[in-house]
Amino acid sequence: MFISDDVAGLDRLFSAIRPETAHILDKALNGGEVTVEEGIHLFSLRGTELWALVATADELRRRTVGDVITYVQTRNITFTNVCYTGCRFCAFGKPRHDPDAYTFSLEEIVERAREAHSWGCTEVCLQGGLNPQLPATIYFDIVEAIKSAVPELHIHAFSPFEIQYGSARLGISHEELLRRLKDLGLGSIPGTAAEILDTDVRQRLTRNKLSAEAWVEIVTTAHRIGLPSTSTIMYGHIDTPAHWAHHLDLIRRIQRQTGGFTEFIPLGFIHERTLLYREDGARPGPTGMEDLKMHAVAA
Ligand code: SF4
Repeated sequence: MFISDDVAGLDRLFSAIRPETAHILDKALNGGEVTVEEGIHLFSLRGTELWALVATADELRRRTVGDVITYVQTRNITFTNVCYTGCRFCAFGKPRHDPDAYTFSLEEIVERAREAHSWGCTEVCLQGGLNPQLPATIYFDIVEAIKSAVPELHIHAFSPFEIQYGSARLGISHEELLRRLKDLGLGSIPGTAAEILDTDVRQRLTRNKLSAEAWVEIVTTAHRIGLPSTSTIMYGHIDTPAHWAHHLDLIRRIQRQTGGFTEFIPLGFIHERTLLYREDGARPGPTGMEDLKMHAVAA
């Protein structure tokens, strides 16, 4: 078994696999659109066919961005873990009086941003639990405080769920909150809280979190007003390859419409200490082969 590093090698790989699989991979290589059903087929591949999928993704990567790898030096500042949403896949959120609960002051947040800048970071990423003890203006306060102290830092902050929460507390629309944050210096938002963009799966992951429709609405609103976002999937629990293929298709359709996604981030489910694993029969995260497939099919 081998991974091809040239097109002739790919042709040899394609001749060694089922014609229907070779047809899908060849179509992808030539700019064609892989359908949801074909995506589900790709997630089922094993052996030589899996390596053909990986080699195809690698060739597409080479043609699209070449061999130069770039990255952003960033620091995560997770400013509070106090949260009452109760997502069953989460081992991070804590009630206010839990001995492990914490919330950074604005001064502590700014100090961490200053430190990050002194280490060479060009970006800080801020997300947190939904903490009702913080003021309703907290998202404005954080952006203002960091921008006054270190104006050159790119601020990548606040998941669509935080945007929904902040808007509801302030009694303003998602768009108004996003516009005011952008005016204060917010540079982009994380596309987290997507989990699996499927209503049935979301109902089992968490009943209290934003809907798939709200996630799409907030992300596309951000893109429309000039705030890019990342996109994510959280997989390897109660989900199936069909959910993955539909999720990727939705992300692709949004990207076609807005062009606002900067990247796609596959997040494997971390099962330790979660109710989803202990009580709901979830799997303990994706396998290594599933990680490979997710990266390759997403390409
Ligand atoms: S909203 Fe975030 S922090 Fe709160 S329980 Fe859900 S995943 Fe955890």
